[in-house]
Amino acid sequence: MQKREKLYEGKAKILWSTDDPNFLIQEFKDSLTAFDGGKKSSLSGKGSINCEISSALYSMLEGKGVATHFIKKISPNEQVVKHLKMIPLEVIVRNFVAGSLRKRTGLPEGKEIERPLVEFYLKSDELHDPLLAFDHIFLLGFLSMAEYNYLRRAALEINDILGEFFVGCGIKLVDFKLEFGWFESNILLGDEVTPDTCRLWDAKTGRKLDKDVFRFDLGDVEGVYKEVMQRIVEIDANEA
Ligand code: C5P
Repeated sequence: MQKREKLYEGKAKILWSTDDPNFLIQEFKDSLTAFDGGKKSSLSGKGSINCEISSALYSMLEGKGVATHFIKKISPNEQVVKHLKMIPLEVIVRNFVAGSLRKRTGLPEGKEIERPLVEFYLKSDELHDPLLAFDHIFLLGFLSMAEYNYLRRAALEINDILGEFFVGCGIKLVDFKLEFGWFESNILLGDEVTPDTCRLWDAKTGRKLDKDVFRFDLGDVEGVYKEVMQRIVEIDANEA
């Protein structure tokens, strides 16, 4: 497969067209950003770590029947993915209180959420990705009620699968963000699932193993990303 033009460059990834209009190359960058781009850095090798993590998680999800864009990893920091028409929403699932939910509600960090929450945010740099009320989702017209129900169910199912997988890695899945898109007439999971897009806490100690380490200067960012990768790779190897 031939890499052609750059179609899109975001904070953490680049999408390239290929000689086949149905497929793209998704490249993971070494850059790290937080607080809406207000804090920026770069970490050599981070693109490869996230590519390894996301490839392992998407192939695990595919194996459990979740429809995703992932085809294969083709280099340390590149994947071939299906060319989706992205739905401009971020779907966030939360199992424990943290981050913006803690700020919005005043609930204590780490409090368990009995029935996982699913939230929809508008993906818009200009508007700073606002949280959408239920009616706003339909006002914007991106989803029918049936498609909304499908996305909510898919997000909860992915939460069950990822949560159980991370238990096996000794990690608590606190919250995470998903993005979906259309491929022909199906909605598939796109984007990535990595420590950039999840909150992951060590199950025994509660130590943070995700982008919060970068956001709040809590220590060795590369070390914790690598630790997540190693724990995932070990599980994969044991299950193979
Ligand atoms: O900041 P907040 O608490 O709403 O984030 C919830 C989860 O979604 C976190 O795991 C965060 O890393 C992820 N997220 C993301 N991209 C965004 C917003 C949140 O990956 N634009």
